[in-house]
Amino acid sequence: MKKVIVIGAGFSGIAAATHISLLDSEVIVFDNHSHPGGRARKFEKEGFTFDMGPSWYWMPDVFENHFKHFGRAVSDFYTLKRLDPSYQIYFSSTEKHSIPAHLNQIFKLFEILEPYSSNALKQFLAEGQEKYKVAMSDFVFKPSLSIKEYFDLRLLKAAFKLHMFTAFSKYTSRFFKDSRVLKLLEFPILFLGGTGDQTPAMYSLMNYADMVLGTWYPMGGMFEIVSGMEKLAKEKHVLFKYNETVEKIVIKNGKATGIISNGVFYEADAIIASADYHYIEQNLIAPEFRKYSTKYWEKRKMSPSCLIFYIGVNKKIDGLEHHNLMFDTDFNKHAQQIYNTPSWPEDPAVYICAPSITDPTVAPKGYENLFVLIPLAAGLSDNETEREKLYLNVMKRLEILTNQSILPNVIYKKSYAMNDFAKDYNAFKGNAYGLSNTLLQTAFLKPKMTNKKVSNLVYTGQLTVPGPGIPSSIISGNIAAQLIKNILF
Ligand SMILES: Cc1cc2nc3c(=O)[nH]c(=O)nc-3n(C[C@H](O)[C@H](O)[C@H](O)COP(=O)(O)OP(=O)(O)OC[C@H]3O[C@@H](n4cnc5c(N)ncnc54)[C@H](O)[C@@H]3O)c2cc1C
Repeated sequence: MKKVIVIGAGFSGIAAATHISLLDSEVIVFDNHSHPGGRARKFEKEGFTFDMGPSWYWMPDVFENHFKHFGRAVSDFYTLKRLDPSYQIYFSSTEKHSIPAHLNQIFKLFEILEPYSSNALKQFLAEGQEKYKVAMSDFVFKPSLSIKEYFDLRLLKAAFKLHMFTAFSKYTSRFFKDSRVLKLLEFPILFLGGTGDQTPAMYSLMNYADMVLGTWYPMGGMFEIVSGMEKLAKEKHVLFKYNETVEKIVIKNGKATGIISNGVFYEADAIIASADYHYIEQNLIAPEFRKYSTKYWEKRKMSPSCLIFYIGVNKKIDGLEHHNLMFDTDFNKHAQQIYNTPSWPEDPAVYICAPSITDPTVAPKGYENLFVLIPLAAGLSDNETEREKLYLNVMKRLEILTNQSILPNVIYKKSYAMNDFAKDYNAFKGNAYGLSNTLLQTAFLKPKMTNKKVSNLVYTGQLTVPGPGIPSSIISGNIAAQLIKNILF
């Protein structure tokens, strides 16, 4: 039996390990935390259960396919609920709109925001559907080790269908004019790490995912996905070792022979590195075996990091939905402060998740569980004073938008930002979602999954192919396992 070691028990690491378990091999996953999930860990405090990272369950087909591959179904592990409305957006203190789950109602909403725009939306979503189909069938499972993988007439034609070379904002402005509609359509890509003028229009597939495939919620919280995936992996005899900090990948004659974790050497025939790519390269591998230089990393364009507040409130908050976007301030200014002149924003765009609206198990009865997220530039100097300023800014705005007092009812509050991402996940510049999805950082232009200097080492996770997000990380783990299969068998 071959022995494979996986570093990191996030979505990519667990997915990779489960796929490897189908080969004739023993798989051990090492993670520095006491439980799995990586950026999607959870914690419990004062009767509240907080998901620490992801909160949007999009692209349910990817989750279903993961479990199906092993003869199981999502419903064997957790119960999904489709949210209706999918989310709501505050455009100002007097204007908010809910985005319904049903397409016909979304068309009606578009007619209100921009007369005669529902036909444009039909066309926009039809193109989004085509992009989703092409991307999910032809592109997303490619290891993208070389541009040659794309030298195929059918794929080149498909690349044009994807609008790879058109900017997202240019593309959407062909369909719509109203600034609220454009904001609504741009929000998914903002959280993917780019502005509309830098992100390929291919990502309008996210709008299709949003409006047609829907926004779902695993009852019990997002951590249910992690638990389900870990349980499946254990059924397949994957071994998990927690509280293990990998200090070194030992390499001899161009081959990784094992790792050193908590001072102990573990032998391996191959290694999958699913912790942050930059950290693995710059800290766990001797300089002569690194694929990329520090200069290379400095030139990468990072997705935003973020400031998160996990908040417990001892009353219900009227007017909130499960997902809430506060676009009541000048987002262009905030975008500048994220991407162009990194600085702490005064009046940021904010995302608030209130899972206790859907799920009574995540807060004591009659209380509200809030997850407040403010995108910030990765690498920004992080300190308590700035965090607290933004806390007050956001909570006061929330009080105005929902027309009630909330601050005196906060009974639990914890903040989390760049310094925490760097400390907990060894995240380069304290990044939250890896690299920006710009054209120059897409597919074969992303950090590669293999390293010619170390023949049996494969990288996976949100900093490599296909990119950030839970679905992408699960797919990345699957690709990594296929690469290991080619190397070992
Ligand atoms: C705040 C936030 C909100 C998000 N929201 C969404 C969302 O709503 N929907 C969505 O789809 N995606 C979302 N994402 C993105 C998604 O969570 C990530 O893309 C995904 O979880 C990344 O998984 P991963 O396996 O690549 O990495 P990680 O989850 O980072 O896992 C890597 C693991 O390796 C461990 N590790 C690091 N160094 C070592 C070491 N030396 N030894 C041992 N272990 C080590 C880390 O601690 C971590 O546990 C969000 C991310 C964040 C941060």
